[in-house]
Amino acid sequence: MVKVVKFGGSSLASAAQFKKVADIIHAEDSRRYIVPSAPGKRDASDTKVTDMLYECYGAAAKGKAYKHLLQDIKDRYYEIINTLGLELSLEKEFDVIEACFIGKAGRDYAASRGEYLNGIILANYLGYEFIDAAEVIFFDDNGRFDSKKTNYVLADRLNGVEKAVIPGFYGSMPNDTIKTFSRGGSDVTGSIVARAVKADLYENWTDVSGFLVADPRIITDPKVITTITYKELRELSYMGAGVLHEDAIFPVRKEGIPINIKNTNQPEDPGTMIVESTSKKPEYTITGIAGKRGFTAVSIEKDMMNSELGFCRKVLEVFEKNGISIEHMPSGIDTMTVMVHQEEFEDKEQEILAGIHRNVSPDSIDIESDIALIAVVGRGMKSNRGTAGRIFSALAHAHVNVKMIDQGSSELNIIVGVSTDDFDKAMNAIYDIFVKTQL
Ligand code: ASP
Repeated sequence: MVKVVKFGGSSLASAAQFKKVADIIHAEDSRRYIVPSAPGKRDASDTKVTDMLYECYGAAAKGKAYKHLLQDIKDRYYEIINTLGLELSLEKEFDVIEACFIGKAGRDYAASRGEYLNGIILANYLGYEFIDAAEVIFFDDNGRFDSKKTNYVLADRLNGVEKAVIPGFYGSMPNDTIKTFSRGGSDVTGSIVARAVKADLYENWTDVSGFLVADPRIITDPKVITTITYKELRELSYMGAGVLHEDAIFPVRKEGIPINIKNTNQPEDPGTMIVESTSKKPEYTITGIAGKRGFTAVSIEKDMMNSELGFCRKVLEVFEKNGISIEHMPSGIDTMTVMVHQEEFEDKEQEILAGIHRNVSPDSIDIESDIALIAVVGRGMKSNRGTAGRIFSALAHAHVNVKMIDQGSSELNIIVGVSTDDFDKAMNAIYDIFVKTQL
């Protein structure tokens, strides 16, 4: 059994957290490849080392005072090293970092040092080999992750290496400069390593006991999702459910490796298993609910629209030309509605209206803003009659007016649009009907 184990920033934010992490790793021999994040927040008012590095680099590269900022970063690492009683100095590394900051080595280089230094400390503490991600994770000339080269080099490098620490979040470009993934990208590194070593399991340790059925800022004390498929997760994370970086599922998915989200502060909790597919019935008909505010519906009406060849394409072309991406597109016989992000749309509103008039001469265009979209996701819907019925009767009972409905033919999700003012009420109504009353 081989496990790749990734620890997030809050799991490695202090010496006390490092101890918990070491206990977890030592509890199972199979935990052989470890991917750390940079030290994160120790409490709500704290700053992540990654953000401290961005700030320090910004100052140094502009020739402004930066030494105090660098000292704050050093202090974060030395608290860990000294409290753990390690015989380790990072002075040489910090000298190189300082010189590179002054020499404008780039923001990505700066941010990557958070994981790099934390990796050195963790490897030292565990007695594991340290492998610099710059030597095994690659990006192409366009800055896109080079999965083929990475998988080849990484698999070869780890072959025969019993135990290693590989820092998350970054890799190198063909010209040897450092490039990072987007924020939270250590999740992606963990997945890449799991694929390369064909791990049995990718454990992703964080500060919550898994994915929750709904956002805890809206629903009080929501249940944990015990098992979720990659596809369901895609739907939910797209609609705003956090915890795991969106791109982290792709590498492991190629190899069918499950991901287990676990809580460093409560390691005995089972967490959430993310799998390709499962025969396990979800506990409730739905797996999760997620939603986003801030959408605008642009409804275009024209008699006999349905018989006009290329009508939709001509409308969509206008959005494309203005760089606006489209979320959903419910339609009727003589109407089509295009749902877009309000913020993006507002800047281009008049150009788009003019463009639609020019392209398709509609009878009318109606714009409605402040719409929230809610995705009700679940593999259980396919085999259950009446899911949609239950959603809509729950919303009706809660006096929520439904503005849009969209169900994909995969029957994996139903998306409803409601007024932003009704968002919390709608989420609660749907959660209650499926989870609380367990219908
Ligand atoms: N340290 C990076 C960030 O704060 C990457 C990560 O934690 O995954 O975004």
